[in-house]
Amino acid sequence: MSKKVLILPGDGIGPEISQEVNKVLVQVNQQYSLDIEFEQGLVGGAAIDQAGSAFPEQTWQQCQAADAILLACVGGPKWDSLPPAERPEIGGLLQIRSRLELFGNLRPAILYPQLADASSLKPELVSGLDILIVRELTGGIYFGQPRGIRVNEDGVREGFNTYIYNENEIRRIGKVAFETAMKRGKKLCSVDKANVLEVTMLWREIIEDMSKDYPEVELSHMYVDNAAMQLIRQPKQFDVIVTGNMFGDILSDAAAMLTGSIGMLPSASLDITGKGMYEPCHGSAPDIAGQGIANPLAMILSAAMMLRHSLNMAPVADKIEAAVEAVLDQGLRTADIYSQGSVKVSTQQMGDAVVAALKK
Ligand code: NAD
Repeated sequence: MSKKVLILPGDGIGPEISQEVNKVLVQVNQQYSLDIEFEQGLVGGAAIDQAGSAFPEQTWQQCQAADAILLACVGGPKWDSLPPAERPEIGGLLQIRSRLELFGNLRPAILYPQLADASSLKPELVSGLDILIVRELTGGIYFGQPRGIRVNEDGVREGFNTYIYNENEIRRIGKVAFETAMKRGKKLCSVDKANVLEVTMLWREIIEDMSKDYPEVELSHMYVDNAAMQLIRQPKQFDVIVTGNMFGDILSDAAAMLTGSIGMLPSASLDITGKGMYEPCHGSAPDIAGQGIANPLAMILSAAMMLRHSLNMAPVADKIEAAVEAVLDQGLRTADIYSQGSVKVSTQQMGDAVVAALKK
């Protein structure tokens, strides 16, 4: 039976990198007779401009009909002055994640040996790095109510948000984390701020309680400030990290830099049935949009994750990942991962090289 994939190019470098992913998916679809139907939709600033809202009703219907969604990135200075709830990030991205209940965000940080010198840390600290950050994605402070900006009793404006998790939300993400750890190195580090925040005191208590069901998993707890430090000091001590929405947002970007570039990192956001949305970890990079120099590999690797986790096509995902390794072996690099001695290529040349490697 055919599978439906919805591609949402979004803003900034989104359309450029989506074009390259499209090439790769068209190639594997044909090469391996996958019978995938592709459709494109509007989200973010592009949707505001063309349809009047960051997440139009039509896109919501397309999302529901799709077996998996591949989203590039949203946002940019053009829409930063809109009221927060209408902006591409809150009105588009956060809305999709929450309406589809994509609560489980998997963010691998793998250092390709070919890029060891692109990392900001010494090669011996990062070579062989393979961390997976499991980030809760639909709760916590990014969604908590009440929130807003108001004038207080003294006539002074104040901004406020609510950091809240209930125990069901913690158990749901805890289960993803423990089960993921079971399939990997069986080490799980739960990151919180339980010395200060009640919400994470509850988080720690529930994760500790759940560990009784996973006796093979070695569980540890770490405060987020220490975790940030340890990620830079000795990143290979980690296998799987589980944390809430905001801490996960920050730590996964730090982990991204250990691997050389945020342009290399894919992510998966899954619902309880395994249906998912797949995105590169980076944003819309307005500083380089339209220049043809963005790295498309994070989105291409996100497509591979999609084939593996939502479409049950793991062997084809392996082929795409092998093709990415092959282009890195050839010394091809976009500007963000370029180092002396390698060959600098454009977004389009990188996409073409992955397609060529698939054909071999
Ligand atoms: P960013 O990830 O867009 O960019 C950070 C830096 O990384 C920039 O120097 C950029 O040029 C570089 N970079 C990012 N992706 C790259 C790629 N594929 N190839 C080469 N270089 C790349 O983060 P930011 O600058 O904080 O945010 C820019 C916009 O993106 C904002 O509007 C923000 O709200 C939005 N944003 C969207 C998402 C998303 O769609 N998931 C995530 C983060 C930020």
